[in-house]
Amino acid sequence: MDNVVVKESPIHGLGLFAARNMRKGEHILRKDLTKLRKYTLEELNTNPDGDHSDYVGHGKYVIDYSLGAYINHSCDPNCYQKSKSIAFRDIYALSNIEKGEEVTLDYTSTAVDQFAGKGFWVIECKCGSKNCRGKVTGDLFQLPRELQRIYYPYLPPYIKRKYRLHFAEVERQLRNYLSR
Ligand SMILES: [Zn+2]
Repeated sequence: MDNVVVKESPIHGLGLFAARNMRKGEHILRKDLTKLRKYTLEELNTNPDGDHSDYVGHGKYVIDYSLGAYINHSCDPNCYQKSKSIAFRDIYALSNIEKGEEVTLDYTSTAVDQFAGKGFWVIECKCGSKNCRGKVTGDLFQLPRELQRIYYPYLPPYIKRKYRLHFAEVERQLRNYLSR
């Protein structure tokens, strides 16, 4: 039996829901986008299925219809994705999830370099959580430092290496702040 089912979501369109109770840290599903056909942003803009697009690095996107593609964003997510590479991710429970609960991710948690520094996406958020940011921007570096620190360990290794100094600075600033 699958861990999750696709159903209509109060957040947006169809969403993914827990088909059983799951414990914090449990593996929920794998998103392997490495074998899918790749598109450029220009090709995607004219594609009617662009809503199901996902970034796979090097300026390329795929259109994904696997279960993982139905996970909606929440500013207070109950899941996180740990990436071996940008196109190969595992989704885990960030907290205990009850059967029937919608499974959500913070889309910004993995949003680094998606448009090769030329900008980022912005979507209106209707997640309804207490700490809803209202607009979700596709740029991890715009999040509060506390959130950047939480999401850092789950980033793909090459992103961690590339932004090592940035995250070291985030860590240093937070330490200074806490020790004041
Ligand atoms: Zn929100």
